Amino acid sequence: MGKRRAAKQRPAPAKREREKYDCVVCQGRDCIEFPQFAKYKTTRVGLLVCRVCGLQWHASLCHLEDKCDLYAAWIDALEEAKGA
Ligand SMILES: [Zn+2]
Repeated sequence: MGKRRAAKQRPAPAKREREKYDCVVCQGRDCIEFPQFAKYKTTRVGLLVCRVCGLQWHASLCHLEDKCDLYAAWIDALEEAKGA
């Protein structure tokens, strides 16, 4: 007879995977898209496009897992470019 520990079940916080992001260049809302993202796992090239101002940015990064990672990398690159 063993003691049964009541395992508290905590629901994992739902990860909000967004499909659209705001463009920080033209301030457009929900206009950033990831047209090549489905192929990302094979190409390792992340492409990000703004459908308002036409901006395109791509990066070959190997640590990306999500669209939000690519978006964050883009923001970082912009910040770097501003600071340079
Ligand atoms: Zn834009």
